[in-house]
Amino acid sequence: MEKKQYQLGDVVQMKKPHPCGTNEMEIIRMGMDIRIKCVGCKHSVLVPRAKFESKLKKVLRSAAVSEEAGADGTEAGQ
Ligand SMILES: [Zn+2]
Repeated sequence: MEKKQYQLGDVVQMKKPHPCGTNEMEIIRMGMDIRIKCVGCKHSVLVPRAKFESKLKKVLRSAAVSEEAGADGTEAGQ
């Protein structure tokens, strides 16, 4: 199994959707515990890192993705 990579500011998808129906959570704090905020209802929860990783399905959007892409200006020309 590949190790999941995530960082502050990433939007992630969990295995079980939030009760509000949204399955997108943004990482708003990283530490011993991880605080994630529901993109749909803005409710935030603090979960232990191990629990977060076991419930994480995938990273939808990475906060750092723009560093490599877009550097050559391909999208800016449109
Ligand atoms: Zn929610």
